[in-house]
Amino acid sequence: MSLFDRFQNRTIIHATLEMGTALSVGSRLSLEPTGTDMPVVKGPDGLPFIPGSSIKGVVRFQAERVLRTWNQRPHLWACDPFDSPCVSSARKDQLWEKAGRKDDAFAQAVWGGSCTACRLFGSPWFAGRVAFKDAYLTNAEDLPVLIQIRDGVGIDRDLGAARTGVKYDFETVVPGTCFSIEILTENLEDWEVGFLLTVLRRWEEGGIAIGGKTTRGPGWGKLKDITIRWVDNQNLMAYLLERKLSEQPADRCLNAFRDWLQSKEASDA
Ligand SMILES: [Zn+2]
Repeated sequence: MSLFDRFQNRTIIHATLEMGTALSVGSRLSLEPTGTDMPVVKGPDGLPFIPGSSIKGVVRFQAERVLRTWNQRPHLWACDPFDSPCVSSARKDQLWEKAGRKDDAFAQAVWGGSCTACRLFGSPWFAGRVAFKDAYLTNAEDLPVLIQIRDGVGIDRDLGAARTGVKYDFETVVPGTCFSIEILTENLEDWEVGFLLTVLRRWEEGGIAIGGKTTRGPGWGKLKDITIRWVDNQNLMAYLLERKLSEQPADRCLNAFRDWLQSKEASDA
């Protein structure tokens, strides 16, 4: 049995994202003949939502930024997944041979060489342990309109300049919308959940933008009411039989992260 097979714990982090500005999470292609050039993504009920992949994108990006600032290799760091991945394809082949072509030893070796971001969010060689659900609108009935159409000007990708005459329109979700954010983690240690919470804290402060066109305004909001629920071997039965989850205080995870950092700094010194 490898370290990936065994259930240890699961946490469910829930929060509300309240948008201070408009939001532009495009679906790129309108299926309606009279649609705009860039509609926002909508569910079967016609309401806009934020795809989990978009949420994962901004959270991973922010986590990588923090990790690159700390840069305490090998225990707290982020690779550049495109230019310089922690475990390249060639390196993976080397590790396979070195592990005597044994799955378990190989998995351990790849894990050992992987950066913190890949261990949490996934790499080409293993799935991430943090999953992001699609975020649905929770206050549609409070808003008179949900979607506005804006004019855009085409950007010349080569010159990075606005090209006159190339106009298009795009949809945005109006400011003031609230979305229900759910993040699931599997088999994370307390300190890793703590690290994730420090990343989300930046979103609580309004320092993270999501969606397209964020440099021109849309996409800024704040996370509110973060709760953490938890299931591990101790309350697994209650969870399976009654869907009961224990509430996990954020402080416990943040303290675990701080203690873990201190223990690593002490062992480095
Ligand atoms: Zn990596």
